[in-house]
Amino acid sequence: MKKVSRKNKIRRNLILRELVENGQLSLSELKDRTGITLPVVSDLVTKLKKEGLILEVKDKEITSAGRPPVIVKLNGKAGYVLGIDFGRIYTNFILVDLELNIVAEVRKKSIPLSNDISIIDKLESEINKILEHSKVKWKNMLGIGLSIPGIVSGEKGISKTYLNFGDVPLRETLRNRFKLPVHIEHDVKAMTLGELWFGEAKKAKCALCLNLGWGLSLGVVIDGRLYYGSEGFAGEFGHIQIKTDGPLCYCGKHGCLETLASGKAITQIAREKIANGASTIITANGDKELNDIDSTSVLEAASQGDQFSIELIEEAGKYLGQGIGILINILNPDKIILGGGIANAARYLIDSITSTALKQSLVHLNKNVKFVPSELGWKAGALGVAMLAARDLFEVEHLNPTAYV
Ligand SMILES: [Zn+2]
Repeated sequence: MKKVSRKNKIRRNLILRELVENGQLSLSELKDRTGITLPVVSDLVTKLKKEGLILEVKDKEITSAGRPPVIVKLNGKAGYVLGIDFGRIYTNFILVDLELNIVAEVRKKSIPLSNDISIIDKLESEINKILEHSKVKWKNMLGIGLSIPGIVSGEKGISKTYLNFGDVPLRETLRNRFKLPVHIEHDVKAMTLGELWFGEAKKAKCALCLNLGWGLSLGVVIDGRLYYGSEGFAGEFGHIQIKTDGPLCYCGKHGCLETLASGKAITQIAREKIANGASTIITANGDKELNDIDSTSVLEAASQGDQFSIELIEEAGKYLGQGIGILINILNPDKIILGGGIANAARYLIDSITSTALKQSLVHLNKNVKFVPSELGWKAGALGVAMLAARDLFEVEHLNPTAYV
């Protein structure tokens, strides 16, 4: 008896997960994708319709002779999932319904990231405001996805750098608090998943997704899937050594890429040069103290044609291009996606990265590679974890599906 219900749960979840990932599908497409026979698919679809989890799509376009195929999709109103991208500067919230339609998107200055448990109260209060504004009740919430920077293992549900409350894994703490399934993920991986499911990496075979913000990190898509590495930490692109005698990095090594090309690096270099008398429109009005100047000031000045700022950005782009050139030779990507606060604002950076990366990699590996800015922008991370949470609702992996389908 137990075996039957387990078998049905797997089949049901396989169908629901296909609908999360693909939107609308016909019964025969569901059969092909899940490996479940058509009569069983049809039976389960009838049950899921009765439960209110899926709906039949009335497609006016289907006019060919014979009986039109039955097409189904998830019922958006059956529940909601919240994706939260908790950054160092901004926190981005995206609330989606079960059909993955965006119900609310909110970008706010972040609550300072720390390891103090009171941060969860503050986060909960922000979530309450969003739900209230969207007229969504907690009882209709199905799951939460949370993206965070630092050392994070989504698989183990732990975060070491921030929101580390001791022995209990963060995922458990959040599940106990919200009484909901919660999925956590490292920020650049969340962003890459957003690009993979909704953005520029959608049809890419191999894509590199750069997160150029205050720090620098990378998500790697190989054969259409996010690559985690043996322990889930793949992608520490910011800590490859580019300059042996370069500045000391917080990781303890010298000349890491992040010390030469990141929001933090641009801020430090700009302050140093301005203190040494560099001429720039950033200080032309005399209203800025040295400590007020950061990478955003440099980006704004560059967009107004400030030569000092453009040269700073181009320099950072050259270092990034060196690193990306190496990755092109190793991975032969078809797309390089530039995301994060800095990439969105700096076409000079993209131009500089592209020219150096192409110069420093082999032609037969780089001839088809495309460098594109992220179209999703700040939404990528929150969308990525919202989708993770939505897929997780219909989890099948631990049930060993191949033994039952
Ligand atoms: Zn480092």
